[in-house]
Amino acid sequence: MAFVITSPCESEKAGECVTVCPVDCIEEGPEQFFINPDICIDCGACVSVCPVDAIVEEYELTPEEEPYLEKAEKFFGNI
Ligand code: SF4
Repeated sequence: MAFVITSPCESEKAGECVTVCPVDCIEEGPEQFFINPDICIDCGACVSVCPVDAIVEEYELTPEEEPYLEKAEKFFGNI
């Protein structure tokens, strides 16, 4: 399980999440930030600092937001 950054990040890209992540698993992509699902320890620290509520738990992803997990895995070369 991991947290996933979804569509609201695309217009915001605030980046506060990067500074609070204890395991440094959030990186900036061209259109949004991404969480490396292989490294995320599920602590939830990033969720509350996101100004646009873009970060959700993997199992809470809506069907529309599901592709964002795959996008993150591709970004980090995990798949
Ligand atoms: Fe980092 Fe914790 Fe957010 Fe995972 S849940 S990305 S470990 S701050």
